[in-house]
Amino acid sequence: MRKYTFSRTELSRAFGIDTATLGTGSPRTGFSFGKVGPGVTSEPHRHDEIEAFVVLSGAGKVTTDLGEISVEAGDVVLFHPFEAHVLRNDGNKDLDFVDVYWRDGEAALNAAAKTTAPRGPTFVFSAPPTPNGDLHLGHLSGPYFGADVYTRFLRMKGVEAYHLTGSDDYQSYVATRAASDQWTPANVARYYSDEIRATLALLDCDVHSFQATMGDDGYSEFQAACFRTLLSSTAVDLRQSPALFDAVTGHYLYEPDVRGLCPDCGGSAAGNICEECGAPNLCHDLGAARSRQSAEAPLVGSLRRPEFALDRCYDNIDRHLRASGVPLRILDLFARLRQRGEFSVPITHPSDWGLPAEGFPGQVIWVWPEMAFGFLYNIQALGRSLGRDWKAEVPGSDWQIVHFFGFDNSFYHALLYPALYAEVFSHWTPRIHYHVNEFYLLDGKKFSTSCRHAVWGKEVLSPKTVDVVRLHLGLTRPEGERTDFTLDGLRRTEKEVFQGIWLNWLDALDQEIKQDFAGRVPDAGDWSPVDRAFFARIEIYRAAMERAYSDEGFSVRRAAAQVCDFVRDCVIYRRARDYAAARCLYPARNRTSLALQTTAAAIMAPTVAPLMPRFARTLARGIDGVSTETWPRSVQRLAPGTRFDLRPVLVFYAKARQSSSR
Ligand SMILES: [Zn+2]
Repeated sequence: MRKYTFSRTELSRAFGIDTATLGTGSPRTGFSFGKVGPGVTSEPHRHDEIEAFVVLSGAGKVTTDLGEISVEAGDVVLFHPFEAHVLRNDGNKDLDFVDVYWRDGEAALNAAAKTTAPRGPTFVFSAPPTPNGDLHLGHLSGPYFGADVYTRFLRMKGVEAYHLTGSDDYQSYVATRAASDQWTPANVARYYSDEIRATLALLDCDVHSFQATMGDDGYSEFQAACFRTLLSSTAVDLRQSPALFDAVTGHYLYEPDVRGLCPDCGGSAAGNICEECGAPNLCHDLGAARSRQSAEAPLVGSLRRPEFALDRCYDNIDRHLRASGVPLRILDLFARLRQRGEFSVPITHPSDWGLPAEGFPGQVIWVWPEMAFGFLYNIQALGRSLGRDWKAEVPGSDWQIVHFFGFDNSFYHALLYPALYAEVFSHWTPRIHYHVNEFYLLDGKKFSTSCRHAVWGKEVLSPKTVDVVRLHLGLTRPEGERTDFTLDGLRRTEKEVFQGIWLNWLDALDQEIKQDFAGRVPDAGDWSPVDRAFFARIEIYRAAMERAYSDEGFSVRRAAAQVCDFVRDCVIYRRARDYAAARCLYPARNRTSLALQTTAAAIMAPTVAPLMPRFARTLARGIDGVSTETWPRSVQRLAPGTRFDLRPVLVFYAKARQSSSR
């Protein structure tokens, strides 16, 4: 027997609270004593151990992914592996508790394998594009395609999910384009906003709400109200602070007007954001800054305007980032920003393109904070079209927001926006998930609109090609690393994979079913071990696809690679049997093979539907009872006698034989 007495004065800080750990001698089990002071909240975290809190004294609230409960002395709370948990003392005396945790390998693995669907209405945003040009494959491969696949899957799972985006009309780059095209910014925005919508439609992106930020009175009124609230926040100061001006023209320089060396990584960066490391800059802090307006080095002057002191919000941001489980690269970006100490961003700029900043004549609201509030307005606009009472000024606690964006937008989406929301909607704890993509390269170099180094969506997208383009973008999507697009690669995916493997297999299968079984699925006969293994393989594939589309580990690239692997396996399974011999010598085995291959073809329709919706629908049309509207919970062998006619998909992709067009 051993007795321990915790000294309440010799505790150490861990997870944001005071703790003392008791060694048990076993690496599988641990105990600790914890003290949470009044008003203190522990840091949210997740781990693979099972854990229990035994409350000794005091009272508070425990929050997990599933909600919040009250606890008091005598209560025991149990947490499953990977369940995020936070303990908050909302009383006026210390909350003491004992924490017990232990490892259970099987429970941890089972919990890791489980996928969860979001609760409440889910608003999936792809970063609103700047209407200063059309969308190229570099844009499309990232946020737009990603958000579309993700939303389609959620809807198949029965989640109330919507894909929202819009055109970010007041971006400074719109005015730059207008100046070089000798047009008005409003005309440029209107023109490219329409082009962008058309390109998204060509990619079969199902956008449920597209909000153009220009020309909507309700939108500008809401933005003005948010701006007023922000001005009265304790994080906003009115300051006379440095600003850059062109040495020759005297014009104020920001975002597109200036380039220099990133204050964080030292690489070449444009105003506001370094595309390489994602770090923000304030233009005047760029090294060796160069104006785009003249060859002279810019002058540093000053301006009086409101600035948002982001450094005062770091604890809030930290909490938000931990709770939403952002990628490590964003945590790293945040850590680097924190090291820079005080960091205030101006929230207005002198310009005549943008929403006027009330009280600051000649200045407009900076377009990036505008976007933060624009997301909420877009939800309200969507609600109106659906007859739902979603209010932008009262964001719902049940709203699940999911953002898809390129890494160079991380600062805005994941650091600035949560801080702005906390200032303007103090009672709202936003639930936001982030899906970040890296740069997609074209022939080894970054896509560039200005250098005409791009393949535009409209150049390669048509009803006949869209699914192959989506498959190829899926296979090469820049997830977690930069990837390269080549037109040759796209052609190979089309000829060698889609036509050469997929359609050839479906064509041969369709032919056999027609010839020997009058277009009806035969009943399985005798099963060999290989048949049994292939049946299991179909279910393994279905489950792996579900995993790849789910929030945990969402990866279009994995989904695309898996379906290609699966079809290859179907072809190998098919070839392992000599068809001519099997037909006459082992008809019972032959029937099993065909029953399983038709089942494999049928499961492809719903499982590729998020990735290649048009192909999936056309495939499903020929097989009775197959739907691309709902996600299959398990693989069911097609009932004998099911109509199986792949003509729709083969005709659509011009693979139909003469005989089958009868
Ligand atoms: Zn940098």
